[in-house]
Amino acid sequence: MAISALEDLSETKESGVRSYCRNWPVVFDRASGSWLYDEEGRAYLDFFCGAGALNYGHNNPAFKRPLIDYLTSDRVTHSLDMFTVAKREFLATLDELILRPRDLEYRVQFPGPGGANAVEAALKLARKITGRTEVVTFTNAFHGMTLGALSVTGNAFYRHGAGVPLPHATPMPYDRWLGGQTRDFLWLEHLLSDRGSGLDKPAAVIVETVQGEGGINVASPEWLRGLADLCGRHGILLIVDDVQMGCGRTGPFFSFETAGIKPDLICLSKAISGYGMPLALTLIRPDLDIWKPGEHNGTFRGFNLAFVAGTAALRTYWHDDALERATLTKGQHVARMLTALAGSVPGTRIFARGRGLAHGLVFDNGDPAAKVCAAAFEQGLLVETAGPESEVVKLLPPLTISDAELQHGLDILAEAVRAVCLPHSGPEPRRDGRGHGLAGQAGGASGEPEGADEGHGDGYDAIPRLRSS
Ligand code: PLP
Repeated sequence: MAISALEDLSETKESGVRSYCRNWPVVFDRASGSWLYDEEGRAYLDFFCGAGALNYGHNNPAFKRPLIDYLTSDRVTHSLDMFTVAKREFLATLDELILRPRDLEYRVQFPGPGGANAVEAALKLARKITGRTEVVTFTNAFHGMTLGALSVTGNAFYRHGAGVPLPHATPMPYDRWLGGQTRDFLWLEHLLSDRGSGLDKPAAVIVETVQGEGGINVASPEWLRGLADLCGRHGILLIVDDVQMGCGRTGPFFSFETAGIKPDLICLSKAISGYGMPLALTLIRPDLDIWKPGEHNGTFRGFNLAFVAGTAALRTYWHDDALERATLTKGQHVARMLTALAGSVPGTRIFARGRGLAHGLVFDNGDPAAKVCAAAFEQGLLVETAGPESEVVKLLPPLTISDAELQHGLDILAEAVRAVCLPHSGPEPRRDGRGHGLAGQAGGASGEPEGADEGHGDGYDAIPRLRSS
């Protein structure tokens, strides 16, 4: 079916809520490693990665074989939270390769298929444990679309969609939101200490270490340690939402490892299943696991195909630190390239920020950012915008991307930025009319580090977040 026919069909049959297909109006068909292909055979390098669900690329062969074997031998697919071999292997592997080596002890709750399910479960449990209702959240936070998750999300457009008040959540400034003009946590510390402040003692604080949808805002390790310390002193539970930044996106498996903190509750989803299949986890400090059997449930919790691929992902990429080191090395390269790119466009205030392989190119407003994404798409690169005004071009390449593919994507992005910000320079025509020669060649799913150096993983943020204008 031609794209115009499909657009017509979507126009009449699919809800107006659809969004990505409006930005990328082609019909995607195949995918492999770092690449998507439309039905005409055109290749698109994927710096979007299913919004962080495809850290190991598309159809990673290391997970495909176990999945096919599982399917063809009639193993259990749907099982709610019954015991299955696939679940046992996933839990044992998570413990062996992720939790124990990091000296982390958590119980695993499978709260439902998506990230918002993991957030809902964490919020409910924190309230049940403490008997309190309030939750502290941060400016530009994003935690999902269900009512509880939405109540701790900052974006006004999404909040408005709730159609009901979103109470029991209090926003506080994220790291450097006030441009470094106020000492970290000065306001929150006062609110908690002064019995006249009007803030009821919160059950929990929920935080992302790097805000993905919020525009790649990077919290420093010191800020995160300060937050963990504050929570500890005031008896408030700390929830880290690692739905987008977990599973190695910032380098280490958990994004909070760089700060050396141990949250009380952790939300994971997206890349945890490896293959882009729905799976979410709420990790609970053992002494906090006061759920009664069945008190929080759902039909689609133990999705066995996700367990099979998730186990293969952990076994393939997390038996050593090669992927982590490669991510940090590649991330440093991206940081250098983006910083140079931002500085190469005179008369603009573009800047770059990020950590690991999560990066943002920040524009003054949403207009140039949207145009850059559109120009990049024309040249065969998928990138989306983020931030409260959609003013940030967000880069989430697969962690398994080859150096050549990464550079190719950065080159397209640079061309797109120049075409938008220096229009007389004009974009070059798409190089081969169907897709670049790199597509499908460079072992996009290998994940082998190439000359990996020691990475610092501290993140970078060129200028304070409070603009002078
Ligand atoms: N938390 C974070 C940090 C996210 O980035 C997202 C989605 O982007 C969610 C929660 C919600 O996940 P889902 O869309 O799977 O419900």
